[in-house]
Amino acid sequence: MVSLPELWIPAGIGIGSNQDDPVEQVSVALRALAGLPDTHLIYASSLYRNPPMGPVAQSDYVNAVAILLTRKSARELLLGLQALELAQGRRRDTELHWGPRRIDLDILTYGRQVIDDPDLIIPHPGISLRNFVLLPLLEICPDLPIPGQGTVSRLAAGLDGTKLEKIPTSMQDSIQD
Ligand code: ATP
Ligand code: CA
Ligand code: CA
Repeated sequence: MVSLPELWIPAGIGIGSNQDDPVEQVSVALRALAGLPDTHLIYASSLYRNPPMGPVAQSDYVNAVAILLTRKSARELLLGLQALELAQGRRRDTELHWGPRRIDLDILTYGRQVIDDPDLIIPHPGISLRNFVLLPLLEICPDLPIPGQGTVSRLAAGLDGTKLEKIPTSMQDSIQD
């Protein structure tokens, strides 16, 4: 029997935290992503400090993005990310919508696939409006296509010019350990 070549899909992941030492939480999440089975961490952006979004008063977020190469399906990847969130101490039962959280891992893109299920939407619907997603993506993969919307650099050109504070490398050395 001839075995088919395994299919590796590039996936963009959004990472955010605003609780319990967010720089450390995002660094821990990047290491955890690097350790996901059937997956390689290809690129990780710098970490960026960013004021919170939405109506809940809360601390600044630290955000980053990563590009994975994965053999998991999109749904398996979502389950993998949710398991990492749980292992890192995210408590979905007590948190507010868009409220403070220790770690948030979103699938931004999964190859060129478009998925519109109740519990899984890809590309992630917030990408084009979120500077904390587009600016880190612009740093590591400006040519990444966001299906149906053009490239990251095209979308980033439509942002309102808001800058994010890039967190100095010395504070994220632990990622490279
Ligand atoms: P937002 O998705 O606007 O960034 P959020 O990250 O705060 O909001 P969560 O509470 O973390 O939202 O997740 C709510 C639900 O979103 C999850 O239960 C998950 O099923 C669903 N979801 C849909 N599409 C995605 C995606 N692309 N990545 C991660 N979760 C997704
Ligand atoms: Ca999110
Ligand atoms: Ca999420």
